[in-house]
Amino acid sequence: MSTVEPNSFRAGPDPEGHFGIFGGRYVAETLMPLILDLEKAYYEAKEDPEFKAELEHLNTHYSGRPSPLYFAEGLTKHLGGAKIYFKRDELNHTGSHKINNCLGQILLARKMGKTRIIAETGAGQHGVATATVAAKFGYPCVVYMGETDVERQSPNVFRMKLLGAEIVPVTSGAGTLKDAMNEALRDWVTNVEDTYYIIGTAAGPHPYPELVRDFQSVIGNEVRGQIMEAEGRLPDMLIAAVGGGSNAIGLFHPFLDEKDIQIVGVEAGGHGLDGDEHCASISAGKPGVLHGNRTFLLQDDDGQILEGHSISAGLDYPGIGPEHSWLKEAGRVDYVPIMDTEALEAFQLLCKVEGIIPALEPSHALAEVMKRAPKMGKDQIIVMNLCGRGDKDVFTVGKALGFEL
Ligand SMILES: *Cc1c(COP(=O)(O)O)cnc(C)c1O
Repeated sequence: MSTVEPNSFRAGPDPEGHFGIFGGRYVAETLMPLILDLEKAYYEAKEDPEFKAELEHLNTHYSGRPSPLYFAEGLTKHLGGAKIYFKRDELNHTGSHKINNCLGQILLARKMGKTRIIAETGAGQHGVATATVAAKFGYPCVVYMGETDVERQSPNVFRMKLLGAEIVPVTSGAGTLKDAMNEALRDWVTNVEDTYYIIGTAAGPHPYPELVRDFQSVIGNEVRGQIMEAEGRLPDMLIAAVGGGSNAIGLFHPFLDEKDIQIVGVEAGGHGLDGDEHCASISAGKPGVLHGNRTFLLQDDDGQILEGHSISAGLDYPGIGPEHSWLKEAGRVDYVPIMDTEALEAFQLLCKVEGIIPALEPSHALAEVMKRAPKMGKDQIIVMNLCGRGDKDVFTVGKALGFEL
């Protein structure tokens, strides 16, 4: 079923895009030629030194890479256990890891001769990153966004407009990310000739999970060099927040075959896993097919996709990238939920002990660090991906803490 070698967690997907029983490309006939074109273009680009050099140049001079690997001395002292390092991907242009993927995909779009860019967005972070690269490369850009999200994320809607993008509010379903992604796929099928669809996480039909992972792996590849320089050895544990799973797989993938390194993905536990008010697709979902791939999904007994909830808008996708589903089944990565209240505590702690205001998504990862670090030895090392900055979240946090803003 899979060409993945039993002794490597890094060899997948197989030629049809499967990670074990997950992944694949469940798409309409009309989409198939597009998907195959994209796959061909991506595999060529991957081997093309010029493509690589141009992406590296953009990462360095436009985005600001490499992002620092920062020893969080204050937090380490406060927790009194393992040494904690942050990969500072919140310092990238546009404030998160999303730009790593968008720069790679806009180069692919240009290579394929496409002249129009589309994207889906939930909280708006991926929409902003896509509008940013479209502006830089001079392409018209259409961003699909659920109507509910358009209302609750108005600062990002305005940012995208400033960057020249057209926002299309999606009214179907609950008017959130899932519906926006359906609508973007529909646009793609109708505008096959000129349009490139930039998917924002390591999900969707093959080859998206693979190519998004590869563009995001710049995170883990940098960490490897940086931690060797700082500590002369690899870390004992990696921790990252998981929405669709792109920042997490970007950190994890280069280390998957180092079996001594413990790897932890943190899902949005919302108000707890007993009801439906969470977004823990792996911890509380079931395998099914959505957006062109088989993966763990939040669904009811009839297979209807549930909306989910998280205080962090970037984590409330009802699915997860298929490679994570496979890594969970293979037992290589542990996936754990963190509740809204725990993430809020972690958010506030980091502001106080490090002078860093984190996004609510990595605050989930941080809450897991707070549980684990004190139980570990002072000679052990944790690397956490600080994948986004918190400016966008101050209103949400203010509201949760009862501040009038
Ligand atoms: C979008 C976003 C996420 C969730 O997406 P992944 O694909 O799981 O990385 C997490 N953190 C931040 C800061 C985001 O903007």
